[in-house]
Amino acid sequence: MDRYAVVGNPIAHSKSPLIHAAFARQTGQALSYEALLAPLDGFARTIADFRAAGGRGANVTVPFKLEAFALADRHTPRAQAAGAVNTLAFDAEGILGDNTDGAGLVRDLTINLGCALAGRSVLLLGAGGASRGVLLPLLAERPATLVIANRSADKAEALAALFATQAGATRLQGGGFDALAGGRFDLVINATAASLAGELPPLPPGLYAEGALAYDMMYGPRRTPFLDAALADGAARVADGLGMLVEQAAESFALWRGLRPDSAPVLAELRRLIAAG
Ligand code: NDP
Repeated sequence: MDRYAVVGNPIAHSKSPLIHAAFARQTGQALSYEALLAPLDGFARTIADFRAAGGRGANVTVPFKLEAFALADRHTPRAQAAGAVNTLAFDAEGILGDNTDGAGLVRDLTINLGCALAGRSVLLLGAGGASRGVLLPLLAERPATLVIANRSADKAEALAALFATQAGATRLQGGGFDALAGGRFDLVINATAASLAGELPPLPPGLYAEGALAYDMMYGPRRTPFLDAALADGAARVADGLGMLVEQAAESFALWRGLRPDSAPVLAELRRLIAAG
């Protein structure tokens, strides 16, 4: 049986084994998928041992996505742009590094939530790994405007500069939260870590255009403070990042197995489980 795993630290909370087991059942693929705790100083060793034991591929989560990038000897263009890897595939030639987070987000937005991005104005909050990871796939949807805003404005400016040559016709800008005053957006994505601490990025009011969607990459049993604040500020609808999680997994599964699972029933089941605690 082909073996796969998710590697992180901590890892016990990971939903990936559940998601991939459901994909395997649904598509009739004979594979196993486990959660592997790597010591903080032992990521490369954990991957080498897993590969030697017959592992075919791995997902990589916090805090190892940069180490996974360094470990891979080939990268997909989207992993190259992200500068981080969440999916490794092992073959005779070595280790391929991919990043499926951005494709997962875009699929959740455009297909699951029916939110087309072409010609729209998009605000991306945060300038850490999650933001960088989704920029290339977001730009590929050709929004009219993509503004990156961050607590430390210089990091958002640097990220916008890094992707300037890939922006095409999209107006790509980076700056601080203050500079957002007066702006109106069709889609606001929270890719800051603020929700993890139950906090809110300090945003000026009036950011949501008519019919706008607010999206928080964070997910959980209850609506995040960011999504509550978005509804109060006029967002027409809100969504959390559970769909992104399932879609990035589907994208990894497709890379490994050459076929795409139907994510909708798996997302619905996971939503039920999380709501039930
Ligand atoms: P990083 O640590 O790389 O970046 C954190 C970012 O959040 C920085 O831009 C930081 O700003 C900002 N930030 C932190 N605290 C606050 C605050 N209180 N107010 C405003 N801004 C704040 O984290 P990641 O980019 O890796 O992850 C960000 C989020 O995305 C996490 O919640 C993570 O769970 C989620 N995520 C979800 C995924 C999914 O599948 N749904 C996939 C990947 C990530 P500054 O630069 O000023 O410090």
